[in-house]
Amino acid sequence: MKTLGVNDIAYTEVDSNFIFEGQQILYKNAIVITMEMKKSKIDLAPSDITNREIFRTYYELGVDVNKGAKLLRKFGFNVQAGPAIGGAVNYVLLARAAGLGEIGKHGLLINDKFGPSLRIAAIYTDIENLPINNKNTYSWISDFCQKCQLCVKACPGKAIYKTPLVFENNTQQHIDYNKCAVPFSNQHGCTICVKSCTFYKQDYYKLKEKFTING
Ligand code: SF4
Ligand code: SF4
Repeated sequence: MKTLGVNDIAYTEVDSNFIFEGQQILYKNAIVITMEMKKSKIDLAPSDITNREIFRTYYELGVDVNKGAKLLRKFGFNVQAGPAIGGAVNYVLLARAAGLGEIGKHGLLINDKFGPSLRIAAIYTDIENLPINNKNTYSWISDFCQKCQLCVKACPGKAIYKTPLVFENNTQQHIDYNKCAVPFSNQHGCTICVKSCTFYKQDYYKLKEKFTING
């Protein structure tokens, strides 16, 4: 998959709570992939150039999951491609379960290479012997977010909850989507939450070291 422009790949069993209401997937395991949104384009947010970069990653991830699914079918496996946009599963929760990052206060996945400047897609399969992830080295980010709150202050719509809503099935909501829709629509897109994130602007490992020492 990495030859297709994918940056990270990991595996997890899909928690049924991650599947959107009224949606279904065919197989219980997921191959989860991420792709970087280029910094040079995200730096310009909000802008048409930024929007084109977002849709480039949606498009290329869509091509990649279909290519990957086709290849796996050739080897006789049962698979279903999950596109980066309009998927049946909450990808942020799925990627966290696969160990690919942690969910920031802004509700986006954060990893060590690109901070929150990435998109996610998946391939669902019944392959049983995948190296399923069972640890997450990123979980410290949640504590960091409690002290940071930079995206909460930077959001032009005041749409990011200081404390995420937590539902009975243990899923969370980080954004008031009605409030987010206002600047998002007025500016033809926003992406300020990506651009303002501490993990977008600073080196992940330096932040981790400093936070671990100073708490
Ligand atoms: S996209 Fe903009 S308005 Fe919406 S949550 Fe992010 S920063 Fe706030
Ligand atoms: S800006 Fe700060 S609080 Fe918001 S997601 Fe990034 S690290 Fe967390």
